[in-house]
Parts: sequence; C-alpha cells; structure tokens
Amino acid sequence: MKKYDYLIVGAGLFGAVFAREAMNRGKTCLVVDKCDHIAGNIYTKEVEGIQVHVYGAHIFHTSNKTVWEYAQKYADFNHYINTPIANYKGELYNMPFNMHTFYQMWGVTTPEAARAKIEEQRAEITGEPQNLEEQAISLVGRDIYEKLVKGYTEKQWGRSCTELPAFIIKRLPVRYTFDNNYFNDPYQGIPKEGYTAMVERLLEGADIRLNTDYLENKAELDALADTVLYTGCIDEYYGYCYGELEYRSLRFESETLDMPNYQGVAVVNYNEREVPFTRLIEHKHFNFGTQEKTVITREYPATWEKGMRPYYPVNNEKNQALFARYQALAANEDKVIFGGRLGHYKYYDMDKVIEAALALVEEEL
Ligand code: FAD
Ligand code: UDP
Repeated sequence: MKKYDYLIVGAGLFGAVFAREAMNRGKTCLVVDKCDHIAGNIYTKEVEGIQVHVYGAHIFHTSNKTVWEYAQKYADFNHYINTPIANYKGELYNMPFNMHTFYQMWGVTTPEAARAKIEEQRAEITGEPQNLEEQAISLVGRDIYEKLVKGYTEKQWGRSCTELPAFIIKRLPVRYTFDNNYFNDPYQGIPKEGYTAMVERLLEGADIRLNTDYLENKAELDALADTVLYTGCIDEYYGYCYGELEYRSLRFESETLDMPNYQGVAVVNYNEREVPFTRLIEHKHFNFGTQEKTVITREYPATWEKGMRPYYPVNNEKNQALFARYQALAANEDKVIFGGRLGHYKYYDMDKVIEAALALVEEEL
C-alpha cells in the first residue's frame, strides 16, 4: 500500500497551504476531509453564474505582504472592498464606526464634534474595560453600543456582552474619517473564480479522500503516513477527555431570487436582537456580478452541539484554560501536529491561517 510522508486531516485553507509547501519540497501528501468537498469554511460554489460563499461571507484582507503575494499565486483577486451596512430597526448605518456612522447617529459633521460626543458618552467607563460592553462603550459610546453592538453581538455569541471578552470588538476599526472600508489592512480582495478554485490549485498533486472521517478510520489512516497534520477540533481528537471546548455554530438559509439586485451591497448586518439572523449577504456583489438573478443568504447564529460545524472558537478564560490542557497533550505527540482554527482553537482569519501554516512549514519541513 502507498505510504505518504504526510496525512493531512482537513482540506481547509490550513491543510491546503501545508500540503502545497510539503509537495513543493518533494513530500507526498494524502488529504482527507469528512465533508464532501474541499476548502473547509472557505468553500464557494457556483449558482446561477454567481460564486456563493457557502459558509458565510469571506473577504480576504491582510497587512502581511508576503501572505498577500502568496495568495496571489493561487488566485486572481478582484478589487472588492468590504463596506457593510448595519440595519437597526430599518435605520441604515455605515460600518465600521466612522464619520458616516457618527453623522447618521448624531448629525455631527466634523471629527471634533464626533469626538466630543463619544468623549461625553464614554465617561461612564473608568479604568480598563473588563468586558465587551465596557470596551464598546469606551470605543464608541453608549448610543452606538445600544444600537449597533449589543443586539448583534448577543445574537452572535449567545451570551451577554458583559460576559464576553473585550478583544472581540477590538477587531472593528473606529475612524474619525469618512471611510467605510471595514478593514484597515492595505491588501484586500476576493478570488474572482472563488475560494474553492484557489484551494484546488493549492492541493494540486495531493491524493484526496472526501467523505472520510479521520477519527472513525484512525488506525487505518495513521498506517498510511509518517506524520499526521490534524486541523479538526483538538478536543474531539482527544475524545473530549478533559471536557468539551465551546464553539459557536451558524445556520445558513439561502434563496435564489428572480431579480438582479436585492440589497445593493454584499453585506447587511441586522443589528437588533428581535431579527433572528445577524447578516444577510448578497453574493453577486462580492464579484461585481451583473447576472439576471441573485442569491442571498441569511446567517443565523446557533448554539453548537456535537455533530454541528464548529465555526467559531469561544476564546474566553474557561475555554483557554481547557485548551491549554489539550495543548499539553499535543506537545507530547511525536507523530501528530495540530493546526488551523480548530486545531489551534484560535479566531484566525484566512491571512493568519496562511501565516500560521507557513510558520509550521518552516518548523517542520
Ligand atoms: P477549516 O476551514 O474549518 O478546515 C478544517 C477542515 O477539517 C474542515 O474541512 C473539516 O471538515 C475537516 N475536519 C475536521 N475534523 C475532521 C475529521 N475528523 N476528519 C476529516 N476531516 C475533518 N476569514 C477572513 O480572513 N475573512 C473573512 O471575511 C472571514 N469570514 C468568516 C466568516 C465566517 C462565518 C466564518 C466561520 C469564518 C470566517 N473567516 C474569515 C475565517 C476563515 O473561515 C478561517 O480562517 C479559515 O477557513 C480556517 O481554515 P482552517 O483550514 O483552519 O479550518
Ligand atoms: N459587531 C457588532 N456589530 C456589527 C458587526 C460586528 O457588534 O454590526 C461585533 C460582534 O461582536 C462581532 C465582532 O464585532 O463578533 C467582530 O465582528 P466581525 O465582523 O469581525 O466578525 P466575524 O466576521 O468574525 O463574524
């Protein structure tokens, strides 16, 4: 039977970058995924000529030039810039928080007036913010917190903003300029042919087995390779021996509509608590599509249970402590390496996944 240098568990971005680099260095790779497709969470598929982001909106953005150049080798990126709209009870606001938002919220027309308004409202927070609520109020004041952060965040994470870590909200820029670009990174875009085509190119030359759960076929698959790179959930790998890490899941509902343009922008956030979904995405706008029809997807947050896709790690103190225990087990493995969002239990964006995979290549190969 053929023996491989690497068995790569997970055909997502982490596994694909590692496989590419291993193959470039003359190594052989078998890639397995329990899904019926490659690309993991960045999987895209064509519907009505539109690249549909099956597991939610994915915008590639980075400030790491090496990573950007790396990604360019495997995909032709367009010039998409993410400028989502927030809908709070029918009122529309620009995101991220910038002069457009401040004007829409308070009618202020200068940075000075916006700063004064926020200073006044953030005065209620004294000292270092201890949770997401305090962090948000300290960044943008109570009005914006109440309308644009609280409902959205509590739906997304299924818990109160006072029980969530501050860092989650620090991902969002706050700007005193009229600039609706959701990201600060200098490089941004979306692969014109979709992410699946990009991952296909990364995996070229690897043997791939889909619909194959590694943990259910562990002994047989382990026998096929010298080293295993595992990009699934680390707690699952260890049979949840210390207990389950928490994840946040999502449910997507898509529709094809017989109209060319439903909402005029790729992403609209629905920020009030009463609307059960967090985002509505219209896929064609990621690629400046002019098709006759359109595909839209509503994204509903969901409590994760075994068997569901674990989209987000929940990086609070309790889970970090549990993860550290699993990490200690992982450190003692000599044949298995852990990687990716689930293996590292980290809220990685795609650029950070590429960075981490390339760092592992340096260490390992
Ligand atoms: P995954 O894509 O999860 O791949 C892991 C793979 O392992 C999966 O295919 C899974 O099926 C497989 N697997 C797991 N267990 C087993 C097993 N036992 N046997 C076989 N196979 C197994 N990043 C950005 O940069 N920009 C964005 O705009 C952005 N938006 C996002 C929106 C959403 C809704 C989500 C959830 C994430 C978003 N991300 C975004 C993050 C991005 O999706 C991740 O950084 C990236 O997909 C992680 O790649 P990965 O290979 O680590 O993990
Ligand atoms: N967020 C919010 N209101 C919004 C958009 C985002 O309060 O309209 C908060 C929310 O807590 C979210 C965090 O900001 O989890 C980070 O947002 P981002 O868009 O980066 O989330 P992701 O793409 O990871 O879902």
